[in-house]
Order: sequence, then structure tokens, then C-alpha cells
Amino acid sequence: MREKNRKMPDSGKRCPVRKKCGGCSLLEMEYSEQLKRKEDFVRKTLKGIVKPEAIIGMENPWHYRNKIHASFARKRDGSIVSGIYEEGTHRLVPVEDCLIQDERANRIVRELCGLFESFKIKVYNEDTGYGLVRHVLIRTGHVSGEVMVVLVCVSPVFPSKRNFVNALRKLHPEVTTVILNVNDRRTSMVLGKRDIVLYGKGYIEDQLCGCTFAVSPQSFYQVNPVQTEILYRKAIEFADLHGTEKVLDAYCGTGTIGLIAVEYAGEVTGVELNPEAVRNAVSNAKRNQRKNIRFVQGDAGEYMQKMAAQRETMDVVLMDPPRAGSDEAFLSSLVTLAPEKVVYISCNPVTLARDLKYLGKHGYRVNRAVPVDMFPWTAEEHVETVVLLSRI
Ligand code: SAH
Repeated sequence: MREKNRKMPDSGKRCPVRKKCGGCSLLEMEYSEQLKRKEDFVRKTLKGIVKPEAIIGMENPWHYRNKIHASFARKRDGSIVSGIYEEGTHRLVPVEDCLIQDERANRIVRELCGLFESFKIKVYNEDTGYGLVRHVLIRTGHVSGEVMVVLVCVSPVFPSKRNFVNALRKLHPEVTTVILNVNDRRTSMVLGKRDIVLYGKGYIEDQLCGCTFAVSPQSFYQVNPVQTEILYRKAIEFADLHGTEKVLDAYCGTGTIGLIAVEYAGEVTGVELNPEAVRNAVSNAKRNQRKNIRFVQGDAGEYMQKMAAQRETMDVVLMDPPRAGSDEAFLSSLVTLAPEKVVYISCNPVTLARDLKYLGKHGYRVNRAVPVDMFPWTAEEHVETVVLLSRI
């Protein structure tokens, strides 16, 4: 309720760095207007395929991001400021209070500037290549309240690290883990390969639709937890499961959708290309004591071909491909496997339309589509859509 009553900042005054940052391209627009625009975009893109239902927006569209990055710079007077790099430059745009990032994370970033000053820790200078701390990554658990701080440094040697962590925890007892990530390369990658746990368990846990997931510095996890729940619940509602179905979770990532769905299904198989994500999915299944779920590492299209060749069947296929959408190899395998229902979760209406056209020509009817706004204030093509298809 507290969130609902918060006043919306005046249009135009909303963010002093909106132009230089460029992340929130719809910041000048009222939220209701933005939703309409996103809904129109989905309607136009899916024209002739299916008429989408009303878009599901956020009740409170501010401070939703559970993952944030901050860079730092030293001013002439020696004080340290945090912010983001202006695109294509080494110029830091100071950001005091980002409107879409988690507020706890915003506060921690501000506090870190003072801590770096008092501990005399040098922040990295992109021009000279001198300094220790390159960025900070903060991930917050929306339900659990756990907070992870990742100090991305050029070297594994962090002076007075124990005292530093204690001072940070004193100011922010909600910080449950602190990690030093070593990134000594001159690349645009935010994180390096090596993580050194300075405090806590090295990951946070968060709950989504009643399941618990581990989130480590590198792991993929949706950035808007409120809308992700809505999106996944819609997908499961569309699948209309009755406790007996065989379900395939294609492009399953760390297994989130499948793990939530398995409670309502007979059994779930998740297929994912990335071996690291599959490892996370397996440990998430253990964490939630789910037995009737398994994960396979490999290409989802090839997996379905193999199933069909062995005359195995699936009742429902849930698919959540990357922005590029699916491909013909996947879609033709899907048609061969011929599940009764397909629930397509898409983060790109354009590739969704292309894939739905293919399925429409190959024995499927597109029944329903619901857009969900996952990224308020950002460009109109950043909208997710859940679609229900059934075999004719
Ligand atoms: N459903 C997950 C992740 C979706 S992101 C979630 O919501 O958390 C899309 C995933 O598809 C990525 O993890 C990517 O590694 C995976 N992927 C891409 N191509 C694939 C393919 N051909 N077969 C299986 N997985 C694939």
C-alpha cells in the first residue's frame, strides 16, 4: 500500500540524467500512455494472427530492477561519485537516484562512494587504466530481502577487505553476501570469470511463485520480479495443467518456469543449451525438492526430433526463446512432436509474429495472447507476450 500512495514525480523533472543515460526513453510519457503504446505495438505486430488482450502493467512502475550496475569516478576534489558511462565515452554521468532500480541498491551505491573514500580505495580510471574498483553489481531478492554486493576489481588484492566488509555491513545489515569479482581485461564485459567470496554464501536466494532460486553474480534471473510472477502465472494458466501432463520447458535457462509448472503437471523436462544454466537448474530442482523434473543440456529442436523419432510424446511445450526468437529447425521439430498445447513466452513481438505464422500454417491455432510490461519507461519493443496455441 505504501508503494501505491507514493506520488509520481512530475513529468520532465523525473530524472536529471535521462538524456545522457538514455535507458528510459519513455520517461516523459505518463505510464498509462506508455502501456497503450506497448499494447498497440503488440497489436500491430500480431495483426492477422491473433487479437491480443489488454496489456498487464505494473501497479507501481518504479524501482523494479533487482539487478544494477554502477561505475565510479574520482572528482578533482578527491570525492568519489557513482553513475553510468555516457554511451561510447569514458565520461561518467553521475546518477544519484535511479528511478527504475531497487531503492536499497541505490542507497548502497551512494554509501559505497563514501566507503571507498574513507578506505582510500582507488576507483578505476578507464583512460589511464589505473585504480582498483571497476564497477559494482548489486542484486536484490524481492521476496527474500537478501542483497548481494559484487565488487568488480582489476586485482584479487583488496586492501583491508575484512574491515571494508564490516563497515559496509554496519551501514547496510541487509547485505547478505559480498563478492570480489576479478576482471583484469580491457573489455566491455562487466564481470570477469573469477569470484572470491568475501562474506556470506556467495549467492542470494529469492522466491518466485513460491519456489526458491539461487542467484549468483553470473546467473541469469529476470530483472523485474513482480512482473515475472505475473508472466509465469499467465503461462501456467494457459497451459491449463491438471497434474498428469508431460511438459517440455524449451529454452529453460535456470529452470524457473519448469520448476514452477511441475507442481501442476505430471512431469517436466527442461532443455537448455548453456551448460552453466543447466547446472543451476539442477540445483534449483534440489533446492525445491522437486523430483518429477529433469534437465537436459542440448539444442531444444534436436531434443524434440529425437523424442519424436522414438515415438515419445509431450502434452504441452512451454517455450521461452531469446530475442531472436525460435528457428525453423525448432519449429519443424515442434510440429513433428505435435504437443496438444504450446505456450510461447516471447520478449520480442516481431520474432513472435514470424514464429506464430509458421505454426499457424503447420497445424496450430493461435488462441490467446497477453502482453506483459516487464520494463516500464523503456522503449516500446521491450514488452513480453504470452501466447497460447493448440493443435488443430
Ligand atoms: N526460460 C528462462 C530463460 C529464457 S532465456 C527464464 O525465464 O529464466 C532463453 C534461453 O534459451 C537462454 O538460456 C539460452 O541459453 C537458451 N537457448 C538458446 N538457444 C537454444 C537452443 N537452440 N536450445 C536450447 N536452449 C537455447
